[in-house]
Amino acid sequence: MQVHRASPRLVLRRSRHVALLGRWVASRGLATPSEPYDAVVIGAGPGGYVAAIKAAQLGLRTACIEKRDTLGGTCLNVGCIPSKAMLNNSHLFHQTQHDLKRRGIDVSGVALNLPQMLKAKDDAVRGLTKGIETLFKQNKVDWIKGTASFLSPTRLSVALNDGGETEVDAKNVIIATGSDVAPFPGGAIHIDEQQIVSSTGALALQSVPEKMVIIGGGIIGLEMGSVWSRLGAQVTVVEFLGAIGGAGIDEEIAKQFQRILSKQGIKFMLNTKVLSADKRDGKVFIKTEAAKGGQEAELDADVVLVSVGRTPVTNGLGLDKIGVEVDPKGRIVIDDQYNTSVQGVKCIGDVTFGPMLAHKAEEEGIAAAEYIKSGHGHVNYHAIPSVVYTHPEVAWVGKTEQELKAAGVQYKVGKFPFAANSRAKTNLDTEGQVKFLTEKETDRVLGVHIIGPNAGEMVGEATLAIEYGASAEDIARTTHAHPTLSEAFKEAAMAAYQKPIHF
Ligand SMILES: Cc1cc2nc3c(=O)[nH]c(=O)nc-3n(C[C@H](O)[C@H](O)[C@H](O)COP(=O)(O)OP(=O)(O)OC[C@H]3O[C@@H](n4cnc5c(N)ncnc54)[C@H](O)[C@@H]3O)c2cc1C
Repeated sequence: MQVHRASPRLVLRRSRHVALLGRWVASRGLATPSEPYDAVVIGAGPGGYVAAIKAAQLGLRTACIEKRDTLGGTCLNVGCIPSKAMLNNSHLFHQTQHDLKRRGIDVSGVALNLPQMLKAKDDAVRGLTKGIETLFKQNKVDWIKGTASFLSPTRLSVALNDGGETEVDAKNVIIATGSDVAPFPGGAIHIDEQQIVSSTGALALQSVPEKMVIIGGGIIGLEMGSVWSRLGAQVTVVEFLGAIGGAGIDEEIAKQFQRILSKQGIKFMLNTKVLSADKRDGKVFIKTEAAKGGQEAELDADVVLVSVGRTPVTNGLGLDKIGVEVDPKGRIVIDDQYNTSVQGVKCIGDVTFGPMLAHKAEEEGIAAAEYIKSGHGHVNYHAIPSVVYTHPEVAWVGKTEQELKAAGVQYKVGKFPFAANSRAKTNLDTEGQVKFLTEKETDRVLGVHIIGPNAGEMVGEATLAIEYGASAEDIARTTHAHPTLSEAFKEAAMAAYQKPIHF
């Protein structure tokens, strides 16, 4: 560790840091300044913190450098976890208002306590991020609180959160710096996180907007739209493409999904391009035109959510200093063992290729640690599920029908509607279906697409089936408990292989 700046105050502060860090490190019997870590992970999102814990479990002396004051990255702090808290609790609120009566439950005086709902979300975030801190301690992962940049492939400089700098040596580095909100293309719309918000602002609105416009009908836009629509906002989703749900969704399921959300009161403007959003008289005015040009229109809203994607975070890492290759989209280029173009430096998660999903980042984190330890690791990119946590949920894994058609694969389709499933009927929750896509000749499961209650849990079975190369017949001949929603899954497999019983 070396002092970098001449300022006497900083040198003093820094020498205190060096002493403290040295004592702390020595007291834990871990790496010392003269002894490099076996593995240093940059970023403690689901990719980075899982990689760090796995590396430590494999016996590698490990540190994780994270600049946020809490661990867990985008997912735990401003992504998966807070959004699911809001989705769950807004669903309960909406159900209490609109669905309980027909179930024989009369309630009165139902009112939204938004501050309490936001607090419940914050409590979930706090509990889970603290939990990662405990896991780091249990597994002897050193959390270095600060912002990392490369001095060389084996030496990192860290600007410490509480002042000063330090240097960390590592035999292996894993970059897991994740992604951030993508700005609106061309900079035509400025996010102020008050009236024009990103997903982060949309998770913390202090009142329910009367009108909300969502730019982008992908997963995050639809989840946030559902939350605020259930809480009382008039929500309009403007989407450039002709379908909602983002990349990877099966076209038939996307259409059904849109119909269901429309019935819930969300408006959709598809094939529509947003040109600008300007704040005036306490409102935001959004100019649009048809995606193919012409037909201009103007919408007004109290809050606009810009949800047009996420962009990899590599700023300030000093990648050019050590020669790490980045592609034109800003993603760090890796090989099939997570190696970057620089020896000893690996990369995982949102900052490199593939779907920006927490569980994908986690799997890569484990594999990268295993590659460092033993030279072997494994992630099956054909079996990574996606879930939209609306109600009903939408979940899928494997190929879509449009992908199979484009690839010229001969396939069979097996479908089963929840309206014919006894548990869904009993629960008065019958919207949706399970759809299997299988290889015609072999009956092997190629893709499963579910829209319906608990689809996000059910897709686990589909993922396992694809991971193990199961046939539809394997699933159809597997006993599923009665009465469960998963019987719809079994019956859709039966439909692909022969015929379902109940439809
Ligand atoms: C609203 C929302 C909802 C989402 N919902 C889901 C969901 O339900 N399911 C799902 O699978 N995915 C979901 N995602 C996506 C998921 O959050 C990401 O795919 C996941 O967090 C990526 O993990 P990561 O470890 O690659 O990066 P991140 O989670 O982005 O973590 C990267 C970390 O690196 C740190 N960092 C960056 N640069 C430096 C540096 N130089 N030095 C030190 N630290 C640094 C950052 O502070 C950050 O904490 C959602 C995302 C959003 C925004």
